[in-house]
Amino acid sequence: MADKAKFQAIKGVRDILPPESALWNYVEQTAREVFGTFGFVEIRLPIMEQTDLFARSVGQGTDIVSKEMYSFSDHTLRDLDGLRAQFLLQDLMFWLGPREMEEYFKALRSLLEAFDRGLKEESALGTEWNMASRERIGTLTHQFEHAIESIGHAENRDLLDETREELKRQVESLRVNVLTLRPEATASVVRAYIEHGMQVQPGNVKLYYMGPMFRRERPQKGRYRQFYQIGAEVLGTSDAPGIDAEVIEMLMRLFERLKLKGAVLNINSIGDKNCRPAYVEQLRAELQKEREQLGADSQRRIETNPLRVLDSKLESEQGIIAKLPRIAEHLCADCRAHYDEVKRQLGLRGIAYQENWRLVRGLDYYMRSTFEITAPGLGSQNAVCGGGRYDGLVGLLGGPATTKGIGFAIGTDRLVLSLQEAGEGGTTGGPAGKAVGPDVYLAWFGAAAQSATIGLARRLRDAGFVVELPAVEMKFGKSLGLADRLKARHAVIVGDDELAAGVVTVKRLSDGTQQKLGEPELFSYLQAF
Ligand code: ATP
Ligand code: MG
Repeated sequence: MADKAKFQAIKGVRDILPPESALWNYVEQTAREVFGTFGFVEIRLPIMEQTDLFARSVGQGTDIVSKEMYSFSDHTLRDLDGLRAQFLLQDLMFWLGPREMEEYFKALRSLLEAFDRGLKEESALGTEWNMASRERIGTLTHQFEHAIESIGHAENRDLLDETREELKRQVESLRVNVLTLRPEATASVVRAYIEHGMQVQPGNVKLYYMGPMFRRERPQKGRYRQFYQIGAEVLGTSDAPGIDAEVIEMLMRLFERLKLKGAVLNINSIGDKNCRPAYVEQLRAELQKEREQLGADSQRRIETNPLRVLDSKLESEQGIIAKLPRIAEHLCADCRAHYDEVKRQLGLRGIAYQENWRLVRGLDYYMRSTFEITAPGLGSQNAVCGGGRYDGLVGLLGGPATTKGIGFAIGTDRLVLSLQEAGEGGTTGGPAGKAVGPDVYLAWFGAAAQSATIGLARRLRDAGFVVELPAVEMKFGKSLGLADRLKARHAVIVGDDELAAGVVTVKRLSDGTQQKLGEPELFSYLQAF
């Protein structure tokens, strides 16, 4: 037989199969229950957002935004990429002669026309960033054409080259991949909060979400390109430390309910816009001194995100990191008081924690309280949950500047893995997982029995039993053999004899005992199991 190419799930994504899916449902259901008791309600969010939403909130310099997002242009904009490539190609040939120059401007004009058309069709294209570039490109083009006319081609080549270079840079910087599969959901929650004016609601807005996130990372155990998070956010005007502590309490209650053993809560304060910048500068200066000893990632982060160096797991860097200045010694009075009160509030709730001065988060929007929970059985991907305060984010995304926020995201994949590694519920769905196999296998023989069992199956299912009703008639031995293999608990047998007597034969498959019962007796018999 000719070998047909088999399809496989793409790299970094996976299927969650039964019976493991039952454990996922159990985890999600437990989260709904626990979060519900804290007054959180669900928000369902889109999986795609404008790229800029993440660029602005998560931060340009972060790994997520700089290299891990799945971004693409919407179909009405698809020709933009091609037209840009065309223009950049013409740019290379600009000086070859008048014909090439003409082609250059033609390509530029086509690109700009397509861009302006795109603006009308896809509002996501019209970001501040793109609009600024578009305007600059317009001005430069005008100047450029004018300069060529008035001074002739070659005379002032340096000046023309400068203009050409900047035009090229501006065109390159246009962001046509305007949509992104969400790499996280806090940005979407905040976007929705602002869009729907939720700040008018009384008290704090407490929302939870669950669903897939997408990051183009190197796949390994506990790290996938499509992974799942269960998260919650509190948005409102208060930044009382009691909110931070209660959010953490809710998390710990969930992990307790799930019987997750060995979860360790790490906390830290990373300061705010008053005290962090000075600390970051000091950190940067210290890191500069050790530059040569650092790995390539950390060297890059000295410029982009020095805090992230603290997160490094590279063995060779640990000695250097241990000697770096610590944020705790640089917190301003307000941040220090806030942090102390968070710890006191955790104490009031009997929640054990470890302070970890190296705990920073890889997203720009965090400030003050940050926390992470690790769990056993996960190797180096041992963080099952990360979270923190993000008081400036609502303002940054165009909402009321006084709105404060705090939240967390649990990595559901890792939580489930850790539960499985601990043998909790195995793969069968934990305490909520049904024992495998149907309650009742309805073996019918003959057309009259088939129509009778269709009705019986419906009544049994209405009463909550899991019923397997064979779709085609089988020989007696084969049918009961299938009941065995499906691990059914009971076979209910209906043939002409049973129909004539107005009964069914019930066989308990664990020991083979059987008896004839009328329908009311059948129900009470099954209910007793
Ligand atoms: P890590 O340091 O492990 O990369 P992170 O700091 O990038 O995590 P967050 O963005 O804070 O993680 O997301 C919160 C949680 O989501 C993490 O603690 C983790 O459990 C989970 N998570 C993040 N990225 C992945 C991934 N690629 N695959 C599976 N789970 C993930
Ligand atoms: Mg990460």
